[in-house]
Amino acid sequence: MAKIKGSGNRTTELRLVQILRRSRIIGWRRRSNVFGKPDFAFLKAKLVIFVDGCFWHGCPRCYTSPATNSAFWRAKVQRNRQRDLTVNRELRKRKWVVMRLWECQLKDDAKVTRRIQNKLDRLGPAATAKAH
Ligand SMILES: [Zn+2]
Repeated sequence: MAKIKGSGNRTTELRLVQILRRSRIIGWRRRSNVFGKPDFAFLKAKLVIFVDGCFWHGCPRCYTSPATNSAFWRAKVQRNRQRDLTVNRELRKRKWVVMRLWECQLKDDAKVTRRIQNKLDRLGPAATAKAH
């Protein structure tokens, strides 16, 4: 667990990379200098995606408080969630569309693809070009 830092982690990020590639969604970047360091950014569409680790960000479905030091962990998760909200708010102020996916939601490729594609479609055809 010590290897997992802050929001998301490499494995979950790579999982979304795989989903995006498979569904031929393009126009995204993983390393961008967008505020809040989103895991993925569609610069033209102004859409950012965060993949939140279920444990660190307190997923309502998966999070279970550790038996030891539970107050400490609760406070830590609380702080992460608070920071997520602050980042969301700031990004929206800067006209970004913010999407947050739970790590556990990445198990359903089709659903994730649909959600992202719908968002991109709504942001307009100029926002992204679909590869054929
Ligand atoms: Zn979860």
